Amino acid sequence: MKRVLITGAAGFLGSHLSDRFLKEGHHVIGMDNLLTGNLKNIEHLFPRKDFEYYHHDVSKFVHVPGQLDYILHFASPASPIDYLKMPIQTLKVGSLGTHNLLGLAKAKGARILIASTSEVYGDPLIHPQNEEYWGNVNPIGPRGVYDEAKRFQEAITMAYHTYHNLEVRIVRIFNTYGPRMRVNDGRVLPAFFSQAIKGEELTVFGDGSQTRSFCYVDDLVEGIYRLLLSEYSLPVNIGNPDEITISEFGNEILAMVGNPSAKLSFHDLPVDDPKKRKPDITRAKEILNWEPKISRAEGLKRTYEYFKKVVKI
Ligand code: UDP
Repeated sequence: MKRVLITGAAGFLGSHLSDRFLKEGHHVIGMDNLLTGNLKNIEHLFPRKDFEYYHHDVSKFVHVPGQLDYILHFASPASPIDYLKMPIQTLKVGSLGTHNLLGLAKAKGARILIASTSEVYGDPLIHPQNEEYWGNVNPIGPRGVYDEAKRFQEAITMAYHTYHNLEVRIVRIFNTYGPRMRVNDGRVLPAFFSQAIKGEELTVFGDGSQTRSFCYVDDLVEGIYRLLLSEYSLPVNIGNPDEITISEFGNEILAMVGNPSAKLSFHDLPVDDPKKRKPDITRAKEILNWEPKISRAEGLKRTYEYFKKVVKI
C-alpha cells in the first residue's frame, strides 16, 4: 500500500486516477480547489477509509501530514475557454503549484508524476509529434498561458531531477475523453454531444479540417499508471494516434445521436488553434508496453451513455 497525493482529484482525469489507485489498493489523498473540478466526480469515494480529501489551492504552500510515496500533479484548468477566463490561475498552478509539489516530493522522498500536454508542441510543424520535437508555441497568444506554464513545468521538473535527484515522471497527454467531462467545458466533444442531444447546431470552428486524435480515458489512465511505475524520467506521449478531422468527428457524433434537427454549423477558428495533432507513441510502446485498446467507436458509445444522463434538454 502506497500513500498517493493526487492534485486536481475532483477533475475529469484526477477523479479517474483516484479510482484507479484505490482499486490497486493504495491510500489516496485527493486535493482540489474546485476552480474547474466538481466534487460530484469523487463523492462516491468519500465514505471510504482509504480516501481523504483536502480542499486546497496548490499554488499556495502545500502541507500533507505523514508519509507520501507518489504525487500526481493533475490540477489545472485544461480547456481553452477555461484558461482564457482564468489565465493567471492557469499560469500559477503550472508554475508555482508545480514548484510547491516538487518541494513536497523532495521533503517526503516521494516520486512525482506531472501532467504535461501535447500543447507543449503548440501548432506543430512535424507530424505526428514525437517527444524529441521542441514545439511551435506562441508565448503571448491566448493559449500561451497554458502552453508556457506546462513547458515551465517540464523544465522545473527536470531541474529537480538533475539537481536534486528527485524521481520524476512526465506524461504528455493528448486529447482525452470519457465520462465526467464537464458538459459546458467548451471542448469539442462535450460541446458536440450536448448540441447533438439538444438538437442544436454543432459549432465547428474554422472549416473543420483541423485534426485531433482522441484517447479514451481508461487507456490514458493505464498509460499513466505504467509510466509512474516505470523507471523512465523523460517525457512520454500518451494518446491515441487515431486521427480525425473535427468535421468528420462532428458527423460521427451526429450519426451516433441521430437527432434529425442537429447539423454542423461553421464558425471562426480560435486564435492559434493547432491545425494538426497526433501522438507518436513509439516511446510508450517500447518503454511501457502500452498502446490504446479502446476504439473511438467504443469510447464514444460509453461516453454517449454518460452525456445522455447529464445533458439537460
Ligand atoms: N472545436 C470546435 N467546436 C467547438 C469546440 C472546439 O470545432 O465547439 C475545435 C477547436 O477549434 C479545435 C478542436 O475542436 O480545433 C479541439 O478543441 P478542444 O477545445 O476540444 O481542445 P484542443 O485540442 O484545441 O486543446
